[in-house]
Amino acid sequence: MNIAHLLLGSSQEFRDHVALARGGTAHLSYRDLWRKASVMSTYLRARFGLVPGDRVAFALANCVEAIEVMYAIWHAGLCAVPMNAKLHAKEFAFILENSGAKICFVTPDLATTIAEAAKEAPALKEIIDVTTRPYALMAVSDPSPMADCAPEDPAWLFYTSGTTGRPKGATLTHRNLLAMTLNYYADVDRPVAGGSMVHAAPISHGSGLWNFPMLARGVVQVFPESGKYDVAETVELMNRWPDCSIFLAPTMVKRLVEHPAAGDLRPGALRLITYGGAPMYVSDLKRAMGALGNVLCQLYGQGESPMTITHLSREIHALSDHPRWEARLASAGVADTCVEVRVVDETGQSLPAGEVGEIIVKGDTVMSGYWNNPEATARSLRKGWLWTGDVGAFDQDGFLTLKDRSKDMIISGGSNIYPREIEDVLNLHPGVAECSVVGRPHAEWGEEVVAFVVARPGTALTAAELDRLCLDNIARFKRPKDYRFIEALPKNNYGKILKTELRALL
Ligand code: AMP
Repeated sequence: MNIAHLLLGSSQEFRDHVALARGGTAHLSYRDLWRKASVMSTYLRARFGLVPGDRVAFALANCVEAIEVMYAIWHAGLCAVPMNAKLHAKEFAFILENSGAKICFVTPDLATTIAEAAKEAPALKEIIDVTTRPYALMAVSDPSPMADCAPEDPAWLFYTSGTTGRPKGATLTHRNLLAMTLNYYADVDRPVAGGSMVHAAPISHGSGLWNFPMLARGVVQVFPESGKYDVAETVELMNRWPDCSIFLAPTMVKRLVEHPAAGDLRPGALRLITYGGAPMYVSDLKRAMGALGNVLCQLYGQGESPMTITHLSREIHALSDHPRWEARLASAGVADTCVEVRVVDETGQSLPAGEVGEIIVKGDTVMSGYWNNPEATARSLRKGWLWTGDVGAFDQDGFLTLKDRSKDMIISGGSNIYPREIEDVLNLHPGVAECSVVGRPHAEWGEEVVAFVVARPGTALTAAELDRLCLDNIARFKRPKDYRFIEALPKNNYGKILKTELRALL
């Protein structure tokens, strides 16, 4: 089974529907997209001598060509290596070398950086700029039949965002991607032909992964002309294209809600915002629901089990009269249909509801391993279970609350302290724009709690008032012993806060 069969099906069922749009303008119908991908796949194999299983990378600002390239790759039985357009040259070099990619597609803004990175990637034969004639020529050939793939063949090397250390290439197979797609229909939504999805978040990550459930249902995938997340432009596109779905990281939801353009959003324009990839604080979530309505669905996943571990559905978001509504909003929801999820101790024994342990996952979405990294694979995949490195607890109704990455947990005086709990409290203060809590080594206690806080512009925040807030809401021993007011929090290219850098500051 080749994941590209989704496009073949849509080229028949939704033949004349618009498949791709550049900003407000239709780019290709489903039939034309299928034809183009198929012709490009002929070219990839004939011109460059690529054989099934070879890797083809891309470093593209969000653009329609990303989808063309992906389906050309899969149609030819090759494996895609999507790279985040905002990576550093050294990170590109590492991924190109580690994956052994033979071709890399780029947008002009990245051509020089990739050429530089390519010096360290001996397998790379060609860099193709998708805005130039060599790219256009790839579409001038004959279609070829879709390559036959086994379900376990690698389809997508998903390089983890690497908040610590080097990225690792989670090898996602055709089966993994299909299972993720079906899970979208089971747990998230079943989009309708003629609807739209705007790709505002990086196509190399969650937004790109959602291309499958959209494409298989005849939805138009819309790429902002800026190639990135610009709130005003995104709102314009959501108003332009009907029944819009979008994937946003929590910080992007926050930016949308706080932007004046949010007020221009046409009632009913938004079908669904899926958010995830990092914690969404309850105060931010409530503000988003107030401003946008009941259009939010949370997902918790990781590259190693893409977009699928647990979800908090629109329906649960809306059940505000439920006695545990607040706790549910603070959770990541219930296990996805396609996976088994457990919370376990270090020996792998399941823990009862209420007890905190590591989250492990098993199912058809779980990667086959890390590319070229058997040691990391052996650490993460044990007896068929993926050890996520995330720590959390189930409640008696099966809702999973994430505490933190296990390495971010603070141990002070023998007690476990989960930074997220303290961050949730600090975020209640209207003067706090952002915050992050970490542990600092302490001779007597092992570690002590330190909060980094970014104040909203024009606000004079004091440690004393934040301390008061903590005293009113959490146990005394969890209170930060020190507040550091800073201009901005260090983040990686996916907007995830780099706690390692904060710890280094201490
Ligand atoms: P990545 O593989 O880059 O997508 O990162 C996955 C990690 O992001 C997970 O292991 C979690 O630590 C975090 N994450 C993903 N979804 C959520 C969520 N809904 N809430 C909190 N953290 C999340």
